[in-house]
Amino acid sequence: MKKFNILNYILSSLLVCTLAACDSSDTEETTEETTTEETTTEETTEETSTSTDVDTSAWLINNSTISTYISDDSGNGVVEDVQSVEGEIIDDVEYMVVKTTGIPKYDVTMTQDMVDALNDRPKANSDFSGGETTVSVGDEVLFGQDIGYNSSSEYCDDTGGAGYWPPGPGCPLEQDTEAYFTVEPTDTDEECATGLNTVGLMVNGTAIFNWGDGMSYGSNQWYNLAPVAEQYDVDICGGHAANGTYHHHFYTSCLASLLEDDGDEHSPIYGFSADGYPLYGPYESDGQLAISAWEKRDYGASEAEGGCDTPGERTCVLVDEYDISQGVVAADSNGPDIGEDVTTLSSNTIAADDGYYYEDYYYSQATVTGAMLDENNGHDSGDGKGYHYHITLTEDTDGTLLPSFPYQMGPRFKAELPDNSIASCSTDDEQQGPPP
Ligand SMILES: [Zn+2]
Ligand SMILES: [Zn+2]
Repeated sequence: MKKFNILNYILSSLLVCTLAACDSSDTEETTEETTTEETTTEETTEETSTSTDVDTSAWLINNSTISTYISDDSGNGVVEDVQSVEGEIIDDVEYMVVKTTGIPKYDVTMTQDMVDALNDRPKANSDFSGGETTVSVGDEVLFGQDIGYNSSSEYCDDTGGAGYWPPGPGCPLEQDTEAYFTVEPTDTDEECATGLNTVGLMVNGTAIFNWGDGMSYGSNQWYNLAPVAEQYDVDICGGHAANGTYHHHFYTSCLASLLEDDGDEHSPIYGFSADGYPLYGPYESDGQLAISAWEKRDYGASEAEGGCDTPGERTCVLVDEYDISQGVVAADSNGPDIGEDVTTLSSNTIAADDGYYYEDYYYSQATVTGAMLDENNGHDSGDGKGYHYHITLTEDTDGTLLPSFPYQMGPRFKAELPDNSIASCSTDDEQQGPPP
């Protein structure tokens, strides 16, 4: 239980906040009407490009409010959220083109649980300059506001944000993102795994990163799951920056709050996957969470059922995580025993329980019906939304919401990525890289 303390508070306390409608930020949704001008047909080589109408209603478009704490190179506040969403047809393919700085407008009112969770961090003494957070219950904390953390100095000194992020991740920088999403995705049989770095955009322009943090216990085996391994490395909105790019690996209650998603109906669109399909929030209907079809392996089971020789040891991996009936093979190098302590990049100690690594999961092949999702974490439930992904959470026995693998779309994209995509296909065993 202890290992999920931070997530617990991020998820539960902010959800409570959402339910109580205590978020004081007002989200202004300026729906920008894209004008239908069939005017400029740019003839660059053989490529033809025409502007077109697209549905921009899901996006948080803003060109007026600026971040109080995150500034650009000239010291001016960065414009928050998304600046424009326009339709464009290139060589007969229709795209939604999104421009954003990647800086969200997350204003959070601190609850007792949140303050307690900050001060209960295992390394609170050194994580905070004064040994504890400087904010109190009821304080409103703006994105990037100093709450007493000993933030990494990377970027922070010049562009702001020092004290808002725990030691480890750098501070976010203004992004100049232009992302193309296909309006009508084309499904693919190719095994196109979500890789490190940006795999989609939330509707407020922040980047979506996949399940991985680029680290593994063995060499190309036992890949960390970021929502677990980086649980002490995210801010009070469940996000952090890598090389300046602010991103989410899992559900953020701060975005839920902005979108007024209180779980009493199918969640709204939280973002778009790089393959063009929308990513909805965690709810399928009133009080019903969408259900991931990925399950934890039982390391005490027989080898035919995905277990290893000795219960509790990570000595084998699945032949095919999409088909557990193919059994197991010996691991290239053994992972830590179930529950054994491992040390994270930020020098926190976390028990590597079942569910700490990618290799701990398999696709259950459950029938896709109702709230049940498929192997890509999406479904078409026949409700008129078409195929869509879900952010996935599970509810603990005490009502606490926890991120549920694969957390967002993935591990593979359902549709093909266009040439001009912000992401590129990765392979399932190619998740190593600089820590995002
Ligand atoms: Zn759904
Ligand atoms: Zn990350």
